[in-house]
Parts: sequence; C-alpha cells; structure tokens
Amino acid sequence: MDDHIAVVHPGEKRMSEHHATYRLGNAVITRIVETQFPLAFSTLYPAAVEDIDEAIARRILPVDFTAAQEIVLSVHSWLIEIDGLKILIDTGIGNHKSRPFSTLFHQLENPFLQRLAAAGATPDQIDYVLLTHLHTDHVGWNTRLVDGAWQPTFPRAKYVLPRTELEYFFTPAGEKRRMLFDDSILPVICTNQAVVMDADGGEILPGIAFHPAPGHSAGHMVISMRSGGREAMFSGDAMHSPLQVARPEWGSTYCLDPRTAMASRLALLEQAAESGALILPAHFPGASAGYVTREGEDYAWRYC
Ligand SMILES: [Zn+2]
Repeated sequence: MDDHIAVVHPGEKRMSEHHATYRLGNAVITRIVETQFPLAFSTLYPAAVEDIDEAIARRILPVDFTAAQEIVLSVHSWLIEIDGLKILIDTGIGNHKSRPFSTLFHQLENPFLQRLAAAGATPDQIDYVLLTHLHTDHVGWNTRLVDGAWQPTFPRAKYVLPRTELEYFFTPAGEKRRMLFDDSILPVICTNQAVVMDADGGEILPGIAFHPAPGHSAGHMVISMRSGGREAMFSGDAMHSPLQVARPEWGSTYCLDPRTAMASRLALLEQAAESGALILPAHFPGASAGYVTREGEDYAWRYC
C-alpha cells in the first residue's frame, strides 16, 4: 500500500465483506457493497473465449482456466466524504425494482441503506449523487418505494447525470430501458434534484470532474477527484474485472459499442498508468480499488 493511501485507522486493515475504506488527500472513500454475483467468463466476455489459450500462454490466465470459469462481480457504491460533503458515486441496483429482463436485478431486497448507515451516512446526509452512466445496476438506489410510489432515496441530494445517457432513453434503441427512467430517474427530475452534465464533461465540485468515456453505454463518463495533490478515478464500467487491464481488447457482453469502449478503456489505462491515480471501478471484487502500471507493452492491475 502506498503511503498516501492509508487505510483509515493505521494498523487495522479496515476492510470487511461490505466496506473498504481509503484515504486520499482530505477525502475518505468507502465502498458500500450492495451485492456480488459470479458470471461465467464466456457470459461476461463472449468474444474473448477464442483468446483463452493465448492468454494462458502469456500467463494472464491460470493454466487450468476454462470458458466456464466464473468471474465474481461486485455491485457497490463509493461514498466520498470531503470538505464536509457526503457524495455517492453510482447507486447500485436498488430494492423492489421490477427488472423482468434479468433475475440478477429483479425485485431485490438488500440492506444497502443499513450498510451505508454503518459507514456513517444516512440518506438525508447525502449531498450529491454522481452517476457514471444510467444502467440498471448504477441508478437503482436513486429512488426507493414509499407508500407505493418511487421517491428519491436521498432527499437533499443533487443527482448529477450525463446528458447523453439521459437522451438515450428517448431513442428507439433506448426504448426498452424506459422502465429505468420511469422508476429511477424521473422521480429525481420531478423534485428538481437532477443536474445534467454535458457530454464534454467538466468540474461539478472543486476537484471533482466528469470526463467522457463512451462505449460501454452511449454517454458513459469517468469521474475524477483531486485532493491533497493526489488523484482518484471512479472508472464506472470502463472495465468490469482486472482481466480487462491485462487485455483491454476484451469487451464485455454489456457494452453497447465494443470498439468505442476499448478506445475509452485504453485512454483510461494510459492516463491511470501515467498519473498513478487510485482507480475505483464499479464492479471489481476484493478490495475493489487499485493501481494500473505498465508492464512492457501491456498494463497490469495491482489491488490496494
Ligand atoms: Zn455496471
């Protein structure tokens, strides 16, 4: 662990099944896990199955690896506490959401808010919700069901969402995702809590900025934070597991435009390796956060 990323409470690795806490400059960043699930490699990276033998030869995968082997994905939010503000990056799947297209996301009942409270934040204390993109596993806790109606979970928060993501719901291709808009986006628009981030990105708070990183979805964005001369990057779904650091050309089955997603991923990896920024992805399991380094022509991932 680098000296500038001290786990809170020195000497005690403050990481549990649901929480992991990192300090960066003046900020404390805590992971709030909603759920975890395994997916077969062939399900997550169907186009990469033909590359398995080569990846084994290059020691990117273990010698006994098969396409059926499961990759664990975590679904979590990042809570940032900085300068008296409490900020959430992405809001997971949510409870009681009807998602007939996926049993992984349909009608869940997870104690996410209890875990958030255990990390020191109640819903009315959240000042900002920053959304990397508007997929079902990133917007769910924007709202919760109260007396049969979807209400903003965080009553004081400004919800910052990428404009291109918002507009996508109203394209023919986005039609099938409209239920997400209705139950997780529209309620925060109706309460005047939504703030739209233009596609070019920009600073939303001192030291905290959105950057375009499209491909996984139409308007996917990476969120950067600077504090105390250090940098963190909340990379959303630019990559789903550390395998894509070693093999950036592997696109996930969830990516809208694999070529554009790969270009965004390569740009992120180059920037991450050059800057030494702490990278906080949306779905990496384990410690969930780490660093990207150069390994000759390739990139490597190192967990905190
Ligand atoms: Zn996701």
